[in-house]
Amino acid sequence: MTILDQTPAATTLTTRNPVDGTPVATYPIAGPAELAAAAARARAGAGWWHGLGFDGRRARLLAWKSAIALRADELAGIIAAETGKPHGDAVLEVMLTLGHLDWAAKNAKPVLRRRKVKAGLVNYNQHATVGYEPYGVVAVIGPWNYPFYTPMGSISYALAAGNAVLFKPSELTPGPAVWIAERWAEAVGHDVLTAVTGDRGTGAALVAADVDKIAFTGSTATAKKVMAAAAERLVPIVAECGGSDALLVAADADLDAAADFIVFGGLGNAGQTCAGVERVYVVDTVRDALVAKVKERADRVRTDGPDAQYGPMTLPGQVDVVRRHVDDALRTGTAVVGGRDSIGERIVSPIVITDVAESSLAVREETFGPLVVINPVASMDEAVRRANAVEYGLTAAVFTRDKTVANRAAAALRVGAVSINSVLGFAGVAALPFGGVKSSGFGRIHGADGLREFSVVKSIARQTRGAMLDLLTLERTEKDLHTATRMIPMLHGRSKPPKP
Ligand code: NAD
Repeated sequence: MTILDQTPAATTLTTRNPVDGTPVATYPIAGPAELAAAAARARAGAGWWHGLGFDGRRARLLAWKSAIALRADELAGIIAAETGKPHGDAVLEVMLTLGHLDWAAKNAKPVLRRRKVKAGLVNYNQHATVGYEPYGVVAVIGPWNYPFYTPMGSISYALAAGNAVLFKPSELTPGPAVWIAERWAEAVGHDVLTAVTGDRGTGAALVAADVDKIAFTGSTATAKKVMAAAAERLVPIVAECGGSDALLVAADADLDAAADFIVFGGLGNAGQTCAGVERVYVVDTVRDALVAKVKERADRVRTDGPDAQYGPMTLPGQVDVVRRHVDDALRTGTAVVGGRDSIGERIVSPIVITDVAESSLAVREETFGPLVVINPVASMDEAVRRANAVEYGLTAAVFTRDKTVANRAAAALRVGAVSINSVLGFAGVAALPFGGVKSSGFGRIHGADGLREFSVVKSIARQTRGAMLDLLTLERTEKDLHTATRMIPMLHGRSKPPKP
């Protein structure tokens, strides 16, 4: 079964519900001409939007938020239909996302307004300020796994920072994009937010269009292509890519809580969460107890029928990736929940494999399916070393009752965000920036850094009086130069090396 009715020459695409294959909706595939026109309209909209100032934008963003909130259940229905996830999960996605929109709308002014900085003794005659101005038009390219939450992490912050946005959703999930753009048109208008639907070619055409910044969320492989294309015009990008996120369990951890979160983070949304749980490193003295608790919970997970706790794989091709990773993991590991037979045509029931070689695909790469690997380690230091040994660095979780151990591990983990005694603890805290390191990407969405990500920094130094020394002239005097020469050691030559 394919999710898209699309041929290379197609001008439309039709999405299908992954649960039963029924068609959901048909959307146009925008090409370079449509994108050029949309970018021109967005540029005009960007001028109007910037001109409103922080307060005007805040009021309109909150009105848009209300328009979405009042019909949240309808939006959740669209998300669920195109991804195949349970309706309840989609409702939570909407709630989480609106929290971010609210924060971005209300914090843009305090974070981004022009502020004075100290000019320093020598520059006492300069009034120095830093301001954050919008780029203009931001292109947002989104994935399908959280088709509202994930791209809105860029859209909310880019809009709040004063930019217009052209949003190209995944070809699997254009519905939420079109829906929120309609609510925008009703609540605000002026082409400030536009959804452009289409396939990969549409994404490539958007990158080549007249945009000033690109916010890409998706696979690392695609991020590299987007970055290479953006380099042609030196357009900056923020890249939110994949992960192979680890969860570390110390001997003193609350094992029931750890097991609950392993099942939620590893299996929820059918494992299709970039910041979910793919690998668990547990200190070996509590390994058997933890594995038993995870098994007990994973065995209870329902994947069929109206009360299914997660849905089918949204991307049909992902089933093959999961199969390859499971086969490879089973070469060295032992399945304690499910196994190869858990992989259906579209639904994959929970799989937990222990003692898997660190060189296996399931450890090193992103599986993006309901497979959890649990490996024992001798210490938390070893857990951190193994967690850091892969090319990804998106997020991690640490379970321990000892704050010192938790903080030491969190500091040593080479990732962009860490949860202690939960998973995804940072996702709902709008003030916390989100993003990865290494192959998981760079740049930050969410929080003050997310607002600054979509802003151009502009420094202004206003001379308020004459300088103490007249040095910025081609006719400087010997006397001033002599004074400057004597000042250098006084200003900068007084630090001694620290005592050994
Ligand atoms: P993908 O890379 O296949 O596609 C992402 C988007 O890029 C889609 O909209 C697609 O149409 C577009 N695209 C494809 N080729 C393009 C090109 N050459 N130029 C421009 N755009 C192009 O990813 P996906 O399968 O949609 O999403 C799953 C991936 O996203 C996983 O790796 C997951 O970890 C990652 N993800 C990351 C985060 C995060 O915040 N770090 C969040 C969610 C998902």
